[in-house]
Amino acid sequence: MLQEYRNEPFTDFSKEENYKAFQAALDKVQSELGKEYEIIIGDERIKTDRTMKSLNPSNLDQVVGVAYEANVELAEKAMQVALSTFDTWKKYSPAARARILFKTSAIMRRRKHEFSAWMVLEAGKSWAEADADTAEAIDFMEFYGREMIRISESQPLTRIPGEDNELTYIPLGVGVVIPPWNFPLAITVGMTTAAIVSGNTVVLKPASPTNVIAAKFMEILEEAGCPSGVVSYLPGPGAEVGEYLVTHPKTRFISFTGSRAVGLRINELAAKTVPGQKWIKRVVAEMGGKDAIVVNNDADLDLAVDSIVKAAFSFAGQKCSACSRAIIHQDVYDQVLEGVVAKAKELKVGNTTDLGVDLGPVVDDKAYNKILEYIEIGKQEGRLMAGGGKAEGNGYYIQPTVFADVDPQARISQEEIFGPVVAFHKANDFDHALEIANNTDYGLTGAVLTRSRANLEKAREEFHVGNLYFNRKCTGALVGVHPFGGFNMSGTDSKAGGRDYLLLFTQAKMVSEAL
Ligand code: GLU
Repeated sequence: MLQEYRNEPFTDFSKEENYKAFQAALDKVQSELGKEYEIIIGDERIKTDRTMKSLNPSNLDQVVGVAYEANVELAEKAMQVALSTFDTWKKYSPAARARILFKTSAIMRRRKHEFSAWMVLEAGKSWAEADADTAEAIDFMEFYGREMIRISESQPLTRIPGEDNELTYIPLGVGVVIPPWNFPLAITVGMTTAAIVSGNTVVLKPASPTNVIAAKFMEILEEAGCPSGVVSYLPGPGAEVGEYLVTHPKTRFISFTGSRAVGLRINELAAKTVPGQKWIKRVVAEMGGKDAIVVNNDADLDLAVDSIVKAAFSFAGQKCSACSRAIIHQDVYDQVLEGVVAKAKELKVGNTTDLGVDLGPVVDDKAYNKILEYIEIGKQEGRLMAGGGKAEGNGYYIQPTVFADVDPQARISQEEIFGPVVAFHKANDFDHALEIANNTDYGLTGAVLTRSRANLEKAREEFHVGNLYFNRKCTGALVGVHPFGGFNMSGTDSKAGGRDYLLLFTQAKMVSEAL
């Protein structure tokens, strides 16, 4: 009997036993660094002459692992395997498919700290952020497994005499899954398992900076008994392997999380019908954000400071939900700004293998250079209050950076930076604050801090984001609790971890029998 869905709890690292267990997991993973990870297509493990080294962004001398990279021929092979496996996989009952998710989740839960430790080393996540990532991966499998069972039960239809009518959700076909590196386990697992539990087969092109953690997921998926060919593991350059798969006539859907530029490119490519294609490809895209926290003059200001600092700087701001704009009522502007600046200066930046570190590095040289460029732009566009450049260490470390008095039209207030940078804006009043908040192409997350019921109701109506939070930070959506996904250029309005998510990977079939 299936228990009711519950979120996986986070680990309390102030407890000695948890601290030791995590340290032991880090030691174990450290001893496994530098291994090679082969491409997986069906039951074949494949090496090519091209590899991608995954470096520890906290310590660039450390190679976390080396993944073989696929090419167009292997992408074609993966597509063929996915197509033939679809014929058998779609016949598995929804409950049988769900059981594979539950089993994978159980294995992951047993080896939780090990998975998190891989993310500390491959993505530069802090212990707490890595732990939350693993918990979310577990949640996705538990949630989508139950969801598949729920939607496979007979759907309510209006009855008429003399007919037996039934509506079922059937799978789509072969999907291309392109997850991001910032939630290298949670989002990879969520996107992949939502697609397969719905009865589709998948070609998974992991995000290059985090190929290893995706390979670790593949290991336990196999251990859980997922038939070979249901998911192929195909690392490789997005522009080559990704585009080949997206434009393939047999691709039925593309599930993507990442930047706006890539998401729009995928959408455009997928929209073009190619010879041999007999459906409209579905694109599920979760893209960027330019998320704001609004603080009114009647807010709890300590809570406001704490919420901005956490949402702007945790995981070095590399979340599409991160707060990159703080919009503060003029009466409390100086106070909130001072509070955030003081806390930002106290944050410890460094190698996240150390539990005491608040802020790790950014993921790779591309991100590092881009963020540093934006910081230089910010110096023209605002008043630098904290940070402003590189931080010490043999990694991609950047200081938590705060700019004050930024124009809402400034580039650092309009373009997604995806780093530890927050811009402050002064608002004349609450209405003006909401106006600034909505002044963006995106619409992913937002938060409002105020003690006024009327203002909360106004924000509920007018603040146009997919995930709106009151009197708390704008990051940290929980599966099943806060279905996640945004409006406008933030994506296709899909809600990961929500009750309508699996419908994106299925099609409804109605059968009517005259009696
Ligand atoms: N779901 C995450 C959160 O609520 C963000 C996901 C992302 O950055 O892609 O913080």
